[in-house]
Amino acid sequence: MLKVQLLRYTPEGEKLIASAAKLCYSSIGIGEIEDNLETKDIDSFLNMLMGLGHESPIEHVNFTFGVEGVSRTLTHQLVRHRIASYSQQSQRYVKLDQFEYIIPPSIAEDEDAKATFIESMETAQKSYDELSNILYKKHYNRYIDEGSSEKEARRKAEKEAIEDARYVFPNACETKIVFTMNARTLLNFFRLRCCNRAQWEIRQLAIEMLKELKKVYPNLFKYAGPGCLKGPCPEGNMTCGKIVEVREKFLEEDWEL
Ligand SMILES: Cc1cc2nc3c(=O)[nH]c(=O)nc-3n(C[C@H](O)[C@H](O)[C@H](O)COP(=O)(O)OP(=O)(O)OC[C@H]3O[C@@H](n4cnc5c(N)ncnc54)[C@H](O)[C@@H]3O)c2cc1C
Repeated sequence: MLKVQLLRYTPEGEKLIASAAKLCYSSIGIGEIEDNLETKDIDSFLNMLMGLGHESPIEHVNFTFGVEGVSRTLTHQLVRHRIASYSQQSQRYVKLDQFEYIIPPSIAEDEDAKATFIESMETAQKSYDELSNILYKKHYNRYIDEGSSEKEARRKAEKEAIEDARYVFPNACETKIVFTMNARTLLNFFRLRCCNRAQWEIRQLAIEMLKELKKVYPNLFKYAGPGCLKGPCPEGNMTCGKIVEVREKFLEEDWEL
């Protein structure tokens, strides 16, 4: 099951953004700007920046998420967002005695499709186990022949065996990932991934992330969401045709918090 945690974020982020932005237009020092900033100034500065499209000051604020219960299909799309930092559970070092997998809802709700899907996962696990054993024996014997101790041969052989056996794992494999994005990257991420045209799993993740962010920095993420919140649908002919509903959903004041 999808689990999204906002692990850390820049404290007083909205104040930091307003200070940095104010510095661009001010002759006084940084300390003085910070000391004199009141909440109403922060709100109005954030509104002004977002209105002007002056987004670079929001890069000073970072957010680290911990995400579990997602597929490798999802993380393959996630890591395409280059202005971010990632740490993902490795299949190279972690042996999966029973790998977990994500079943897409369209498959889960259909008995026949689900049975075929599960059978395929079980076959993948069986192949992984068999390949791990075959490769382990091969590498172990080679290391012993080369003069390694039994302990050393076991350690190296196991690592090399799972490194190649994992090639049979499917995109459905469950994974865990920690990543850090700044607010500007996040706005771009939401423009692309909250869109109805984005793939269902990453859209679900994007919406859960946005919910967490709205709890801590409601002003900063007030207008965050798919590209059609501001201006026409960027998808052109591929539009979902639901711009009114989408705008209502994302611009509601107490948006599903
Ligand atoms: C609906 C959908 C379908 C997609 N389909 C495909 C697909 O079929 N095949 C595929 O390969 N990808 C696909 N993608 C992925 C997409 O092309 C992007 O790689 C991904 O969304 C990351 O977006 P980004 O580059 O804006 O983000 P980031 O990498 O975080 O970059 C943020 C912004 O920084 C700027 N930037 C970053 N790096 C550079 C650079 N090297 N040069 C210039 N500017 C840069 C750009 O303005 C960019 O928007 C799809 C994405 C979506 C949302």
